[in-house]
Amino acid sequence: MADSSNTNVVWHSGLPHEERWRLLGCRGGTVWFTGLSAAGKSTIASALERELVRRGVHAFRLDGDNVRHGLNRNLGFSREDRDENIRRIGEVARLFAESGCVAITAFISPYRADRRRARRIHEQAGLEFFEVFVNTPLEVCERRDPKGMYRRARAGEITDFTGVDDPYEPPEEPKLMLNTAELTVEQCVERCIDMLAEAGMIRRGEV
Ligand code: ADP
Repeated sequence: MADSSNTNVVWHSGLPHEERWRLLGCRGGTVWFTGLSAAGKSTIASALERELVRRGVHAFRLDGDNVRHGLNRNLGFSREDRDENIRRIGEVARLFAESGCVAITAFISPYRADRRRARRIHEQAGLEFFEVFVNTPLEVCERRDPKGMYRRARAGEITDFTGVDDPYEPPEEPKLMLNTAELTVEQCVERCIDMLAEAGMIRRGEV
């Protein structure tokens, strides 16, 4: 794959994000949900997006379905393609964050190195990155199995399925951990909102 670091691509430095945010009255950052399939990432991410927008906060969710059908539709599920999938998502989230949006990503993102890279992309740009570990036990995820994926993986119809025959590397220091076997969707959203408020991402009037 072509790499711009080998070519003469010139980076145009435009409006600094602090100035953009001050003028627009917003503050960008990324909330990165990670966890097993069926842990509840998409459900919580959608509810959080809705709650933030209801409060007047510009928030936008990226998740497996909207990204894999568009930007990443040329990618499969090999290790290399999964890495590339997460790399692109990290870059897109960063752009959304820089623009002043609260980007919310909901991907299994099972490998620590991939999540670390997404974090680094944000930190290098001076942007907040909130890693939220949706830590629902495998048995619970497997019992839910909303898309029948675990059943198919156990039957050997799908291979390299995270939690079954591919590893999930749990975050070592997530900003927040949510066990949806014990918390309702509303409680999970509340904890995310508190996390964002504490970090000054949401103004008091919006809380
Ligand atoms: P993921 O995005 O992690 O694959 P989904 O959000 O698509 O997971 O699916 C999680 C399933 O678990 C949904 O069917 C959802 O209704 C159910 N669920 C039950 N309790 C919760 C909870 N407290 N938080 C999130 N999801 C929950």
